[in-house]
Formats: sequence, structure tokens, C-alpha cells
Amino acid sequence: MKYLNEYRNLEATNRWLNLIHKTITRNWNIMEVCGGQTHSLVRNGILELLPEKVRMIHGPGCPVCVTPLNLIDKAVELLENNVIVCSFGDMVRVPGSKKSLMQAKANGGDLRILYSPLEAVDVARENPQKQVVFFAVGFETTAPANALSVLQAKEKGLKNYSLLVSHVLVPPAMEAILKDELCKVNAFLGAGHVCTIMGLGEYYPLSAKYKIPIIITGFEPVDLVQGIYMAVNQLEKGIFEVENQYARVVKKEGNLAAKNLINIVFRVGSRQWRGIGEIPDSGYVLQDEFNEFDAELKFGIRHIQVPENKTCIAGEILKGIKKPYECNQFGKNCSPVNPLGAPMVSSEGACAAYYHFTNTV
Ligand code: SF4
Repeated sequence: MKYLNEYRNLEATNRWLNLIHKTITRNWNIMEVCGGQTHSLVRNGILELLPEKVRMIHGPGCPVCVTPLNLIDKAVELLENNVIVCSFGDMVRVPGSKKSLMQAKANGGDLRILYSPLEAVDVARENPQKQVVFFAVGFETTAPANALSVLQAKEKGLKNYSLLVSHVLVPPAMEAILKDELCKVNAFLGAGHVCTIMGLGEYYPLSAKYKIPIIITGFEPVDLVQGIYMAVNQLEKGIFEVENQYARVVKKEGNLAAKNLINIVFRVGSRQWRGIGEIPDSGYVLQDEFNEFDAELKFGIRHIQVPENKTCIAGEILKGIKKPYECNQFGKNCSPVNPLGAPMVSSEGACAAYYHFTNTV
């Protein structure tokens, strides 16, 4: 299995680990941006194999975790008002201010768990008497399929399909982290799958402005330890560049067809991030010509705003200021069975990773 076994190979992993141990002379904080990378680091026991001088900080790259409470409340509101709500599975157990989507389904709501927004277009076609909303959560990676679903619905003349858009972008979040006065990040491992779509272009100015190495990295153990070595190597030499560890997948220009689809349907706009607040130009919103597919406009639910849950310190977890076990709810009042916040529910959430794969509970 080319590109799988070779990137889970113990010998290759150890080679890069040895190089890290030989190269490092000082303490460095490296943030892996993506929750998928966090899970791989924790699940494969890589954190314990790194030298003490490397401190991995877990970043905000979990789309479910950063979706603000008010958007879950908006989806619940739709579900309770006879709308068919379609969602990826990760989202349905995340608590809103009063209930999760799953709890609203238990009260009779028509919630469909799907793998693709294109399936939601089919649901709309098969149910012309009902309104169908797809909860469009995600980073740049899910935006092309969501854009395609809108174009398909338009082409089919469907008037009963729309998106509840919660799209966020990685580079503005990285910049927000770097601007935070508590930021301790010395280098980033960039999210490889996001760059598969978007390419590397946005990372050069970020690296130059903040004088910080950014290593675009994959998700397997060899990818991660090689990426960490590349970061340590730059830091020890006092250089800061964008490097592409994930070159077998990521091209400098990204996926032009996917980017084109995104740009037809979406434009960049400000977005709220759970526990972090509003970050300017940090997400996608629908272009004005696609307003008829904007569920917030269509159903008049834009006004629904709720304060974040103060018990859950998701914002500090997502900015890498605290580790999950530093939350006083971790493993006590908050567990995957009874989650208080999204990082404990999502398959990419840092709290879930520590709960399942470490002995920190
Ligand atoms: S352990 Fe639970 S309450 Fe604490 S930050 Fe994680 S999700 Fe929130």
C-alpha cells in the first residue's frame, strides 16, 4: 500500500526522531494546526518519543470544535420547525446552548447524517414539499463540495435547498494566534489537506511577516516526525521559511478546479470562532447572487446569538494556551458520553484525543 505503509514505518519514524534528538539544543514550541494531526500525534504515542525540548501545542484545526454555539442553536431551530437538516455525523452530538442536534432529533426533528452535501441535494429533490438545509461546516477542504451542491441545486431549479454556512479558513486563524499576547508558538505544522486545495501561496507572507517557519505536513507518523524535524532544523538555524513535507499530495498552486468552484459560490467574510470570537476575513460566506441558498437569510435566523459556555475552556484549548487535562472539567463532568464542549465530541478534538489515547484522565 504505497503512501500508507511507508509513512507508518517504524524505522523511518525512528530515523527522523533520532535526527530531532541530535539537532535540538533549545526549547521550542511547535503548533500542529490540524486536529487530525493532533489525533495522530497522540494516538501513535509520538509526544512521548520527542525530546523534552520540543513542546507540541495543539491548534484550532478542528472544524466542529470552532463552530460557534449560535450556529448549532440555529440548526436546532430549523430542525424544530419542520426543516430537514442534513449534517456530517461529528456535528450532531455537539451541545448547543440548550440541546444538541441529536437531542432535537429525539424530539421528532428530521435530522439526516450524510457523508456529502451532494446527498443533501438528492434529499431536497426527493422531498419537494419540505425545506432541506445542509449544515456546511468545515475548513477550505469541504468548501468545494458545498459549493458544488449549491451549483447543482441551482441547475436543477431546486427552491427547497440551502446551506447553513459555517466555513472557516486556516491562515487567518494562524495569524490570530500569532497576534495573541499569550502566543508561545515558534513554528507551525500546516494542515496538509487544506493546502491540497489552497496551495502554499497564503503561507509565504505569514511566514515572512511573523518570522516563523511553516512546514506543510501530512498526517501519518513519518509525516509528523519529519515535519517536526524540518521545523526544529529551521529554528536551530534561525531561518523561517515555508517548506512542504507533504509534496506527494500538495502542489504549490493547490487544486485550481476546486479553488475556482469555491470562488464562484463563496467570498471571504468575517466569522465567529467558538471560544475565540470574531476573526476578520476568516471564513467563507455565500456570494450575493447565491443569497437564495443562504439558510440564515431564508429562514430569518441570523439574529440568534448566544454567549459561549463559560464552563468549557475550548477557546484556550484551541489557541494552544492550555492542554485538555488542564481543564478542570476534563474526565470529570466532561467525557465523550457527556460532553460539555465540542473538543470532547469531535473525532478531531484535542480533548477527545487525550481522553481516548492517554492516561491523563
Ligand atoms: S474537557 Fe470538556 S469542558 Fe474542558 S475544554 Fe474540553 S470539551 Fe471543554
